[in-house]
Formats: sequence, structure tokens, C-alpha cells
Amino acid sequence: MQKFYKFKHNNLEVNKKSSSGGAFTLLSNKIFEKGGIVYGCVLDDEFNAIHIRAENKEIRNKMRGSKYIQSNILKSFDLVASDLKECHKVLFSGTPCQINAMLNYLKQKKISTKELITVEVICHGVGSSRFFHDYVKDKEKKEKSKAVDVCFRSKYRTGQKQDMSIKFKNGKAYHAASTNLDWFYSIYLKNLILRPSCYKCKFAKQDRIADISIADYWEKDETEDYSLIICNTDKGGRLLTNKIDGEFVEINKAKVHQPHMNAPCNKPIDREQFWKVYLYQGYEEVQKKWGNNTLKGRIKYMMAEILQILHITGIVKKMMKRAKND
Ligand SMILES: Cc1cc2nc3c(=O)[nH]c(=O)nc-3n(C[C@H](O)[C@H](O)[C@H](O)COP(=O)(O)OP(=O)(O)OC[C@H]3O[C@@H](n4cnc5c(N)ncnc54)[C@H](O)[C@@H]3O)c2cc1C
Ligand code: SF4
Repeated sequence: MQKFYKFKHNNLEVNKKSSSGGAFTLLSNKIFEKGGIVYGCVLDDEFNAIHIRAENKEIRNKMRGSKYIQSNILKSFDLVASDLKECHKVLFSGTPCQINAMLNYLKQKKISTKELITVEVICHGVGSSRFFHDYVKDKEKKEKSKAVDVCFRSKYRTGQKQDMSIKFKNGKAYHAASTNLDWFYSIYLKNLILRPSCYKCKFAKQDRIADISIADYWEKDETEDYSLIICNTDKGGRLLTNKIDGEFVEINKAKVHQPHMNAPCNKPIDREQFWKVYLYQGYEEVQKKWGNNTLKGRIKYMMAEILQILHITGIVKKMMKRAKND
């Protein structure tokens, strides 16, 4: 039977570097304690999302943070297969479709999955890497400096959980003034750049493919960052016994609001048009047609920037919520 938990790691540094409450760090630490190996997604120096193998926490730490683009699983399948053949404990993390593909691969190769733990993210869909690279190049052009670090889930703005941050070689940084006013996020969240298969994802349902599912945990008026952990199998349950480094509370399924456990994202009616313009006329043209570069958009952006500079975004949001409820 599925069990649902909310979780927040007790190490502040882990919380800061993780997308939500640090569930992935908790689970991967448990595998390291058993002498095992962890697989997950990192951004390489060219900002390509790729899956790699980690034998220690230093490498694993690079897997923290969601990258909302398709990850290349490269040779991970072969490496997982050989680790399992050598009887290592293995934790493989990824999107549900990647886990499904890996389980199929291991089945085909007749490799036992007894020592394998699978951890999936509840998945909105993966964005286009090509679009993301154009987005980074555009930011570099504006800053006249090379990007050296990109974080999709920066916690720069107090109380905000999903912001883009880019650090440049010249020491400067871009911090999104708001999630929806960031150009990459606005297009990703409008579902315009998702992979075609994401609109008919067969994993967007209550029954899960992995031993453990992790996601953001949303609760009304909750300002702290919690992860949602769903334990789907006995194997997953065994990993979640003994000492848990953080707040770990079982919750009722009714408290879980995860649209992608019910249905995939809708395909926008202008998706084909968007891609036609992007592929034939280029990045700048789609920015003109789908961007926030209108007077209203610019005013919104300026307001968001002022709030960010004053570090009062969280406070203003709370005040607006309270006013709405009164
Ligand atoms: C593409 C994508 C879509 C998501 N959609 C949703 C959603 O709709 N709703 C929701 O509640 N949560 C979603 N999540 C999950 C959420 O972003 C966090 O991963 C989750 O809250 C766990 O947080 P954490 O603090 O444990 O994560 P972290 O410590 O930040 O761990 C990140 C984990 O995600 C994996 N990962 C990162 N990027 C990728 C990638 N490109 N492909 C495969 N695996 C990756 C890493 O291997 C690692 O296991 C999504 C994640 C991804 C990657
Ligand atoms: S939405 Fe479905 S098909 Fe798309 S990446 Fe996520 S799991 Fe895979």
C-alpha cells in the first residue's frame, strides 16, 4: 500500500541546495551508508543534462536540484547493469519514463533488480535542451560574459521555490525577478517546449513505476520547503526505516495535490505555431511573439525587480493572500 510523507531535511545547507525539502539527499545518503552507488542527473560544463554515477557524496551533490530539460542517460544503463551484476546496492533516480526504460533494459538482459532502488520525480515534463541552450546564450550575450553556473531551483528570493539563477564569469549573476517573468520558465510552464511524448505521458497516474516517488509538497499557507515522499513498495519502505535526518511526517493522501498523478500536461493549441516560428525564424522572433515584452509585461517585471531588491516578495505575497481571504 502506498504511504505518503512530507519531509524536510534538518541540515539547512541541504535544504538550500535541494529543490524542495532534500528527499533525494536523504534517500541517497541511506544508499551510501549501505556501501551502494547512486545514479542521477547533473548539468555538465556545457549545461547539458546528463545522468552520471556517484560513489560519494561530493559527486552526488551535483545531482541535487531539478533540471527541467531532458537528461541524456548515456551509458547509465550499462553501468547500472554491471553494478548490479557485481551485487552492489544501486539507487537510480530519474523521470518515470527513464525508470521504466531502465527496468525494461534490465529485464531484457535478465539482470536481477534485487539490489536496485528506483526513485522517480513526479513529472511535469522535460523541456527542450535546444531552447534552454538558446536561453543561456541569450543571457550570456546580454551580460557579455560566459555563464559558469545555472540553477533552475534557486532559493535566492525568500519564500520562493522555483526561480532561475545564472552566475557569470565576470562575477555578476542573473536572478529571475519572478518565476513567470523568467523567459525559460514562462515558456516551460506554458507547456510550449515539452517533449511531444510528455503530453500523453502514461506515467501521469496514481500507480507509480518506482519504489519511491519524490515531489514538491504544497500545503495552504506553508512557507517552508517540504518534499513529498511516496513510498510505493516494501523495498522503498525498508529504505525509510531507522534514523531519518529531518522532519518526516506521514500524511493523508487527501492532502496531496499533484496534478501529474492524474493526467499529463495539456498540449497548448499554439505549440505547433511556436515551433514553426522558433525553427524557421529563430529564438528572438519567438521571444517577440510569446514573450512578456509588452508594456504590461515590462511594468510587472519592474515591480517584481523592485520587490526582489527590497527582499520583500514573500511578505507582499502573504499580505495579498491575507487581504484576499478577509
Ligand atoms: C523534469 C522534472 C519535472 C518535475 N515536475 C514536477 C511536478 O510537476 N511536480 C512536483 O511536485 N515535482 C516535480 N518535480 C520534482 C521536483 O522538482 C523535485 O525534484 C522534488 O521536489 C524533490 O526534491 P528534492 O529536494 O529531494 O530534490 P533534489 O535534491 O533537488 O533532487 C533532484 C533529483 O531530481 C533528479 N533530476 C534532476 N533533474 C532531472 C532530469 N532532468 N531528469 C531526470 N532526473 C532529474 C536528480 O537525479 C535527483 O534525483 C520535477 C522534477 C523534474 C526533474
Ligand atoms: S512527462 Fe512523462 S514522458 Fe515526459 S519526461 Fe516526464 S515521465 Fe517522461
